[in-house]
Amino acid sequence: MNPKISAYKIIRHNFNTAVKHLGYDEETALLLQTPFREMQVNFPVRLDNGKLKVFTGYRVQHNGARGPFKGGIRFSPIVDLDEVRALAEAMSWKTAIVNVPFGGGKGGVNCDPRQLSQRELQSIARTYASRINQILGAYRDIPAPDMGTNAQVMTWIMDEYSKRNGYTPAVITGKPVELGGSKGREQATGRGVMILTKALAKDYQTDVRDLKVIVQGFGNVGSNAAKLLAQEGAIIVGLSDVEGAIYNDKGLNLNAVLEHVKKTRTVVGFPDAEQVSGEAILEKPCDVLVPAAIEGVLTEENAPRVKAKFIVEGANLPTTPEADAIFEKNGVHLVPDVLANAGGVTVSYFEWVQNLQQLSWDEDEINQRLEKQLLTAYRDITAVMKERNVSMRIAAYILGISRVHRAEELRGV
Ligand code: NAD
Repeated sequence: MNPKISAYKIIRHNFNTAVKHLGYDEETALLLQTPFREMQVNFPVRLDNGKLKVFTGYRVQHNGARGPFKGGIRFSPIVDLDEVRALAEAMSWKTAIVNVPFGGGKGGVNCDPRQLSQRELQSIARTYASRINQILGAYRDIPAPDMGTNAQVMTWIMDEYSKRNGYTPAVITGKPVELGGSKGREQATGRGVMILTKALAKDYQTDVRDLKVIVQGFGNVGSNAAKLLAQEGAIIVGLSDVEGAIYNDKGLNLNAVLEHVKKTRTVVGFPDAEQVSGEAILEKPCDVLVPAAIEGVLTEENAPRVKAKFIVEGANLPTTPEADAIFEKNGVHLVPDVLANAGGVTVSYFEWVQNLQQLSWDEDEINQRLEKQLLTAYRDITAVMKERNVSMRIAAYILGISRVHRAEELRGV
């Protein structure tokens, strides 16, 4: 999390605005925003240098009215309960928006994966999983990858859970395909960003091939979004990661950037580009800005200088309410995180279904189903936008919150 910005404050503001439009009373709002369960675990791990270190992990289960809790696990040195709580709540609205039968949850461990060996990482993943084992389950709580974790980490967690409960691939998604992972899951969040960028551009009579794109964050979401947008003909002009950023107005050769990253682990130093700071890249000329790194990066301070016409939020909670207001005033069109990055949880749902049925779907089928599910949600949200005359973000929250509320009502809470 951007240390200056509270992710929880951002989500509270979005939630409160949507609830005001929905006209819910105070008690209903309180029930909907209160997390079901928050678990914190502290566990020791022996590091390669022989020293013992205690790590802190979290798992927050926000709302389970529509199905098992679902949400990623983040490994990051700045993860804390405030952040995990906010991200868990975002998952409750997101799963409802794309209409998959899950609730919302999120997990995190306070560690820096870039400073850890594979052995240390494995130790952390397994010990964390063993400590939260009781609250996980294929019909209870199903984690997935998030920042700093990947298919390998998911495998260690599945293995640790299976040791205690019997082989249970459906307890976690984002696994390697060889171990019950779904084809297309690794690209799914980036694919969703591409699908929604195209949908937004089409609504404003713009061809994707005329779009110059900047992507902040070159991890799972950012790199796949960049690759898939480039495949559709968009011109990728800027890329960044935690080390810094690169920009070339004529377009970056993505394959060459990927080669460079393979060698150096960063986009920084890529020869055929201007080297800029991580902050400055957000303000460089482009048509589409895809924040795909961390929370709270678009603020009242930099929003007035953002040149993009479209913003498609690959990351969770990257925009503060103040920045939102500036974008609205400046006519910047924005697809909010709860829809724009929902491709990941949608294909996670497909993975879970395949695991439960012990089936394997082919990649074309996954991609077609993903597109259909996301475009249906996009249409549902634009209908709310028109009906209530609100931004796409508030329309998305209205849709998600009202679906969760309806499930709570039907259950009789
Ligand atoms: P990742 O760990 O694969 O990549 C993160 C990238 O962000 C890296 O390139 C890293 O260098 C960069 N980064 C980190 N801190 C930065 C900073 N301060 N400034 C600029 N860049 C920075 O993570 P990911 O899985 O791609 O997740 C990225 C975002 O997308 C997160 O907000 C996550 O919650 C969200 N998200 C991920 C998924 C998924 O399926 N992985 C699904 C939905 C949402």
